[in-house]
Amino acid sequence: MLRLYNTASRSLEAFTPITPGKVGLYTCGPTVYWDASIGNFRSFVFDDILQRTLEVEDYDVTRVMNITDVGHLTDDADEGEDKMIAGARREKKSVQDIAQMYTDYFIEDAKRLNIKLPKAPYLCKATEHIREQIALIQQLDEKGFTYRTDDGIYFDTLKFPAYGALSGQKLEEKEAGARVAINTEKRNAADFALWKFSPKNEKRLMEWESPWGVGFPGWHVECSAMSRAYLGQPFDIHTGGVDHIPVHHENEIAQSEAAYGIKLAQYWLHNEFLLVDGQKMSKSLGNVYTVRDIENHGFEPLALRYLFLGTQYRQKQNFTWEALQGAQNALNRLWSAARALERPQTGNMEFEAEFLSAMEDDLNTPKALAVVWKLIDSDIQSQTKAKTLLWMDQILGLSLDKVVAHPFEIPKDIQTLVQLRNDARAKKDWLESDRLRVEILSRGWIVEDTSQGAKVHKGILSAKNEKENGKKT
Ligand code: AMP
Ligand code: ZN
Repeated sequence: MLRLYNTASRSLEAFTPITPGKVGLYTCGPTVYWDASIGNFRSFVFDDILQRTLEVEDYDVTRVMNITDVGHLTDDADEGEDKMIAGARREKKSVQDIAQMYTDYFIEDAKRLNIKLPKAPYLCKATEHIREQIALIQQLDEKGFTYRTDDGIYFDTLKFPAYGALSGQKLEEKEAGARVAINTEKRNAADFALWKFSPKNEKRLMEWESPWGVGFPGWHVECSAMSRAYLGQPFDIHTGGVDHIPVHHENEIAQSEAAYGIKLAQYWLHNEFLLVDGQKMSKSLGNVYTVRDIENHGFEPLALRYLFLGTQYRQKQNFTWEALQGAQNALNRLWSAARALERPQTGNMEFEAEFLSAMEDDLNTPKALAVVWKLIDSDIQSQTKAKTLLWMDQILGLSLDKVVAHPFEIPKDIQTLVQLRNDARAKKDWLESDRLRVEILSRGWIVEDTSQGAKVHKGILSAKNEKENGKKT
């Protein structure tokens, strides 16, 4: 029985879908004004593990993820510049070009992490659903939940008594903790914009006609409108990072439930944050790494996925390059062990059951990984082991299908590069040794430094390398 921690009830609950056999799953997706960070990807890998676990449990999952390409302001509330417009100015490109470029990067990075993204139309853009967003605001307007200020149409949180239930925060606490509101016309600190007007006497880069005047939707509206359009209301599971609980998700719930008088979602799942060297990721600290940074340091993107699997999603996780090296080493060993197996036949039901029960325990990936290693180290027959491992990889997503029963020989050119790297290390020329490590990776091989010297493993060629090297795996 799958048990999941529901933020809404603050407890572990047995999962029961609204329609037997089917699951509607909604994830707040990226704002495409800049690269998605490895922190964002911790969140998206968690969603992927959830989806894969549900699928192994035989649910037919409809997964929806939004792409925010308008309305997310730089202070995450109702003030500041639109992140998309700031991105366009920063890179001297049009907003559309910025949105397309960072959406493409996001999809590429997700592929490298073996994330199953929703397909069209379920990977949906805010700017392509303005009509649905206006319809939602109209409902709220008709039911008296809105008021008008000089700069937009706002949701009146005092009229929605359940406001704050998800985070357990009372409106008064929010008032007390709020920064001095810049918009003095706001009735309560928690009120939020549903529709913002374009600046007076100025054409905004992105703006639309509406019954209230030319402008653009508030950031939270898109998720309420698109989840309803594709999954209906209520739907089963809504996910996101913990930072979304107190504002973005409270606001989604308030507007959807006030407009239609029914629950938005049954289960709310939130992942904890990824820290870097024990600190919050921030541009000013220069520690906002991307999946491409991971590759440029000579690691496989899937080593990052392995690292994420090592911590259950509700615990904070600390990223360090040493921890990533540890994950890469473990993954190399897993791939090597998988290569040495024979062609799969039938799986081992006991190991499969133990693995699944770890996943059913609120997606306990570290416990599931321990079962993987117990399987590898067990003396069950190689073909059975292979089949069991491949079954587990439906959830792990570590590309084991590409390595099972594929032993490798190390080609001459790689041996030469490894020797050159050993020489550089002997001379303590770390720059050269790192350069060679990246060069070796670009040819599809990974170096692991062990107490017995450097070992090489065959990697899974990333999309970039596949193009350059042809399919060599
Ligand atoms: P954003 O593009 O800022 O809306 O973020 C996309 C998703 O990543 C959201 O669900 C965030 O809660 C999540 N997120 C942002 N930063 C981190 C982090 N450092 N660790 C884990 N999840 C994060
Ligand atoms: Zn959202």
